[in-house]
Amino acid sequence: MKKYNFNAGPSILPREVIEATAAACLDFNGSGLSLMEISHRAKDFQPVVDEAVALFKELLNIPEGYSVLFLGGGASLEFCMVPYNFLEKKAAYLNTGVWAKKAIKEAKGFGEVVEVASSAESTYSYIPKDYTIPADADYFHFTTNNTIYGTEIRKDPESPVPLIADMSSDIFSRPIDVSKYICIYGGAQKNLSMAGLTFVIVKNEAVGKVSRYIPTMLNYQTHIDGGSMFNTPPVVPIYCALQNLKWIKAHGGVEAMDKRAHERADMLYAEIDRNKLFRGTVAVEDRSVMNVCFVMNDEYKDLEADFMKFATERGMVGIKGHRSVGGFRASLYNAMDIEGVQALIACMQEFEQLH
Ligand SMILES: *Cc1c(COP(=O)(O)O)cnc(C)c1O
Repeated sequence: MKKYNFNAGPSILPREVIEATAAACLDFNGSGLSLMEISHRAKDFQPVVDEAVALFKELLNIPEGYSVLFLGGGASLEFCMVPYNFLEKKAAYLNTGVWAKKAIKEAKGFGEVVEVASSAESTYSYIPKDYTIPADADYFHFTTNNTIYGTEIRKDPESPVPLIADMSSDIFSRPIDVSKYICIYGGAQKNLSMAGLTFVIVKNEAVGKVSRYIPTMLNYQTHIDGGSMFNTPPVVPIYCALQNLKWIKAHGGVEAMDKRAHERADMLYAEIDRNKLFRGTVAVEDRSVMNVCFVMNDEYKDLEADFMKFATERGMVGIKGHRSVGGFRASLYNAMDIEGVQALIACMQEFEQLH
């Protein structure tokens, strides 16, 4: 039976990307050695990093003066590296979910944190819109896509201070105006690569402005200077990311990814709104095109476990909602094709007929 992978992360990757990475793990570039057993400083490997950085810059139209870094530690380590490197006195944060809250917690260890707004009181079911960013903040931090709750900010916000964003789960799904940001980061395992890699896009001249000592490994300057090679980077996930960047380019770049994302999400939300058994969980205008969260309507609540079983038997993988929301979550990352969404919709329609 064909499996349709709706996992939230680690998550679906294009088949070609997985195959190319698997092949390099057996024999890298015809060298007779595995990608796993060569030096990251081998002359064959440097071009992998260089090409991945170049494609990052090309696909996201990153202006001059920015570096692309490949690190370890996940988005979770960036929650602390960001304030370490950029928070001198005060920073502004938007609280739109669990990840935003974790970023806020870390920042509080470094200075004053202004939480400009929060939707915590309604289980993060919407993106707050009326808030003021203090003009004397060092930066404004927000999460573009709230993977757990299924809300998303797809337009770079207006701000009197530089932006910093956690784009773990929607990087490469749309064009970004990188010039508005001093830092964009994320774990690669949602929409870019396999687990084990963190990407950071950082504005060079914004680094080195804080007065505190920053431990070497946590200082962005170290990794800018070292070209992500200060220590051993996660080579296999970087190779996998490169394959995926090539795939994104071959499939029309981020504009095409954006269009496909809307096509997929529009289809699924239309079915959720039409089907008498289901309803969406978040404000319609804030619906994420990457993670579609839905639950069973109150009168059908006791059918939730049945639907999960029904869908699983038909090849749907990873549609269980996060424990803090319940119900279902279908993650529709770049590699998900329309056929997968159609298969899920067919399940929802068949299940509706039975009830
Ligand atoms: C998954 C996720 C994280 C956590 O990423 P790790 O790489 O596991 O630390 C942070 N932010 C967002 C938006 C996520 O989706």
